[in-house]
Amino acid sequence: MVYDILVIGGGLAGLVNAVHLSQAGLKVLVLEKNEYPKHKVCGEYISNEVLPYLKSIDIDPFEVGATSIEKFALSSPQGTQVKTRLPLGGFGISRFSLDNLLYQKAVANGCKVVKATVEKIRFLDDHFEVTTRGGFEYFATFAIGAYGKRSNLDVQLDRKFIHQKTPYLAVKSHYTGNFPDDLVALHNFKGGYCGVSKVEDGLINVCYLANYKTFKQYRNIETYQQEVLCKNPHLKSIFRTLKSAFPKPLTISQISFAAKETVENGIFMCGDTAGMIHPLCGNGMGMAIHSAQILSNLFIQFFNTKMTNRHELEQTYIEKWEKTFSRRLNAGHILSLFLANPSLLNVGIPTLKLFPRVLPFIIKQTHGEKFSTV
Ligand SMILES: Cc1cc2nc3c(=O)[nH]c(=O)nc-3n(C[C@H](O)[C@H](O)[C@H](O)COP(=O)(O)OP(=O)(O)OC[C@H]3O[C@@H](n4cnc5c(N)ncnc54)[C@H](O)[C@@H]3O)c2cc1C
Repeated sequence: MVYDILVIGGGLAGLVNAVHLSQAGLKVLVLEKNEYPKHKVCGEYISNEVLPYLKSIDIDPFEVGATSIEKFALSSPQGTQVKTRLPLGGFGISRFSLDNLLYQKAVANGCKVVKATVEKIRFLDDHFEVTTRGGFEYFATFAIGAYGKRSNLDVQLDRKFIHQKTPYLAVKSHYTGNFPDDLVALHNFKGGYCGVSKVEDGLINVCYLANYKTFKQYRNIETYQQEVLCKNPHLKSIFRTLKSAFPKPLTISQISFAAKETVENGIFMCGDTAGMIHPLCGNGMGMAIHSAQILSNLFIQFFNTKMTNRHELEQTYIEKWEKTFSRRLNAGHILSLFLANPSLLNVGIPTLKLFPRVLPFIIKQTHGEKFSTV
């Protein structure tokens, strides 16, 4: 069987494409290496800019317990804190629940989802041939690369960024205890920053990104948190009072924010596979969902014969992607340089308190407008 579209990776970008395209009647196959549901390292705060679109493809995160978030707090490593209302607001939902909701919707729409790790992908003029671990082969007219920030496939495709070393690792755990329902906090510490916000069932997600150089001096996560994160009094109070709901934290490493190609070897890259914004912006999931919407709409136009060839489709996607996301990526990069400098933060955050309009303005630079059409 030749599928219309084969999606490699069933995370947010892959599953949103799967739901949208299968709803439009296209034959879609998703190959995902993990089972659903599964916890993922992520801050789990999503901007409201994606809500109208998600609802238009019949996905309602509030049905699985999402919590509304309207306020934002930012603290310096010393603990000086500034608070503001989020311009668009957002919601908190675990990836365990959100990815599973999308997966169930995709299957209900008639999409085929197979648990398999893709090892090889080849473009043969007018179709793709994909081989999975175990030697199974699948064929499709188009392929979407939605396999996340870093994967074995980046090595196979010899993508430029894969040869650069990256200094970041991330740690995440859910906790029980007291934390405001409507707040997302970003607390800085020497060598990184930590996001805290509520998800479903009253659980609190605590997720931080750290520079490996600062981390490797400590024996383990527990000591690192005590010795480094807890120098920020807000984090000290969080780690002292909250109780972990995970047997041990989840970790990932080798997180890259390097520029990537949007289309490579004929594969349409989507979500983090096309480019990743610094997590401090709290908008990577928004971008994954929005890029899937842009791509799905283009594929639907193509199959409705409003576009004539593959090249035109590729160029249109590249242009739309750049137009929609390059400003945000640049703003995220500049902000990350600012946050990486504790002395700047210790001066900058008290200054932000004096000019209350500045923080919402900065947040807007890393986000888009609400988007709705399917
Ligand atoms: C520390 C941290 C905190 C973050 N916090 C936030 C936040 O609060 N808000 C926000 O909006 N964004 C946040 N992000 C960003 C967000 O997590 C990502 O942008 C988002 O997950 C991108 O989704 P995706 O679908 O591109 O990738 P993923 O969700 O990673 O999905 C990729 C999928 O591909 C599968 N896969 C990989 N290789 C293969 C293969 N060879 N074969 C088959 N399957 C494969 C994987 O198993 C995975 O399921 C954070 C990121 C980090 C690192």
